[in-house]
Amino acid sequence: MNSPHRAELLARLATMPGCDWRTQADAMAPYLAEQRGLYYGAALAVALPQDTAAVSALVRACGELDLALVPQGGNTGLCGGAVAQDAARQVIVGLERLNRIRTVDAADFTLTAEAGCIVQRIREAAAAHDCLFPLSFGADGSAQLGGVLSTNAGGTNVLRYGNARELTLGLEVVLADGQVWDGLTALRKDNTGYDLKQLFIGAEGTLGIITAAVVKLFPLPRETVTAWLACPSVDACLTVFGRLRAGSGDTVTGCELVSRLALDFVLRHLPGARDPLGTRSPWYLLVELSSSSASAGLGAALETVLERCLASGAITDAAVAASQAQGGDFWRLREAVAEVQRHEGASIKNDVSVPVSAMPAVVAEASTAVEARCHGVRPCIFGHIGDGNLHFNLTQPTGMPAQDFLDQWQELTECVNTVVEKYRGSISAEHGIGLLKRDALARHEPAVALELMRGIKSALDPHGRLNPGKLLPPG
Ligand code: ZN
Repeated sequence: MNSPHRAELLARLATMPGCDWRTQADAMAPYLAEQRGLYYGAALAVALPQDTAAVSALVRACGELDLALVPQGGNTGLCGGAVAQDAARQVIVGLERLNRIRTVDAADFTLTAEAGCIVQRIREAAAAHDCLFPLSFGADGSAQLGGVLSTNAGGTNVLRYGNARELTLGLEVVLADGQVWDGLTALRKDNTGYDLKQLFIGAEGTLGIITAAVVKLFPLPRETVTAWLACPSVDACLTVFGRLRAGSGDTVTGCELVSRLALDFVLRHLPGARDPLGTRSPWYLLVELSSSSASAGLGAALETVLERCLASGAITDAAVAASQAQGGDFWRLREAVAEVQRHEGASIKNDVSVPVSAMPAVVAEASTAVEARCHGVRPCIFGHIGDGNLHFNLTQPTGMPAQDFLDQWQELTECVNTVVEKYRGSISAEHGIGLLKRDALARHEPAVALELMRGIKSALDPHGRLNPGKLLPPG
């Protein structure tokens, strides 16, 4: 759109203090492109405010001009939650300039950072004070704190430390009318009424714009052991997981499930990847134990559990990392799964969670259901077994045109979701709803829950100005 009206709007916005603007197509492009290529956005402009006051002023100005705001962090989301969709009326709010780490308090075990701080940088800042910020996932080298909290990101350390929600003590949020809510407390106990921060975490920017947060820190691990285990079944994986927790003083930090097909994809497409074990197995577990004590005896505890599991057949083979570098190699195999899938053609990704005990049944039933719907489909299954979180990703049958496969997106996703619902699971474990799962949310959430969500949305954003069209279906 290049109408006089657009020029007039941009001229009025340009007078705002504390904001940089991107209005040309090439400058806006990185903010419009969504990493998976599922959506290409459209926006009036991209605003880059410098601080909380500038975000507040921007929200007020957009209110006066009847414009909507689409908050965006590192743009690494997987569900289209940060995609703007209206070239006439939507302004993308990039939070990247709010990138200050305000304080690190080693005595409180807390860190206060602004929304645009990259997760990896927060981890480094904590480590410089001998502390751990445990949030860890594939995109954490570019994901920003505000986006991570807005999607309640999970990752590989949730089992021990919790997801983004559980790591948050306080928030600063710009509300739909431009007011700033300062809830930046570092309290572990606070029963003063409703826990307002929880409303904004996981809300995908539909209720307010998170501008800063106080997060929890932990002692740095001093001893870590990592192993790659072959298991004959998902059931056996659960047995191993239970025995490890019980037999290691509950020091299991990660317990990741990898199917043989997922490992095959990695070995085929990740340069330098090597199978840690000599024989093929249908399932693998990547396990990591860690302790803040340097003399916790984790190696011996792991050995004892592994001997027992080998004797009972719960594992058929094991490789214990002899060095930190080898442990890193095991993790690289796991972390590459999501990325290498694209070399095998189109994929339909499902991020679901179920009770841990239901995982064997869900894997079996969902695999049968998708094969019945699409012969030759290749379930590339991996996930966080300790959290009951499966990435039940479907790779297209060999030789099928990619679009023919993608045309079955909804049917195949519903095959998986139906099984998940049967076991009282969730259709979105750690990636959020955005645009991608919005209609599925409406189908699978109880009517009472949807009504409560709509009530909260209209109370906090009565004019529908914050990230419109995301999370909840319109109307
Ligand atoms: Zn994951």
